Amino acid sequence: MSFKASFSFIYGFLPVITIFSNKFIPKGFGGYNYGFINIIRPKYKDDKGLINHEIQHSKQFYRTFGLAPIFRSLGIFPFLKKFSDRKIFNYECEAYGKQLCFIDSESFNWALKLFSQFVVTKYGIVGYSIEEAKEEIFKHYERFKRKDG
Ligand SMILES: [Zn+2]
Repeated sequence: MSFKASFSFIYGFLPVITIFSNKFIPKGFGGYNYGFINIIRPKYKDDKGLINHEIQHSKQFYRTFGLAPIFRSLGIFPFLKKFSDRKIFNYECEAYGKQLCFIDSESFNWALKLFSQFVVTKYGIVGYSIEEAKEEIFKHYERFKRKDG
């Protein structure tokens, strides 16, 4: 078995490992985040936007002291579904906002619309419109353009 991996650091010292492999990635996704480990399908190895989307999830992992993935999965309890969906919505909008920073201007509107559709359809969340996702992703995009975070 062979795989390629790369290391980077968040805030200069928190390690993030990016592994290029088709394993452990759910169907329909190009990459997947497991805390400080990200897995990217080899065919997207040059997709800086996707890689940075997943790295943004690693930042979410670190800044919540490891709780972000737990927040995301609390929806298995019906009474926490709303809370969990709000977290997933926020985390994904932020990650897609980051991803948008790597999209060229001709594709920008198309990508913003596509990412908004992804947020409301691919993560099993309910109660959010494409318009809401669009607004939220754009808000994060503008924040990232002002300063990295
Ligand atoms: Zn994501």
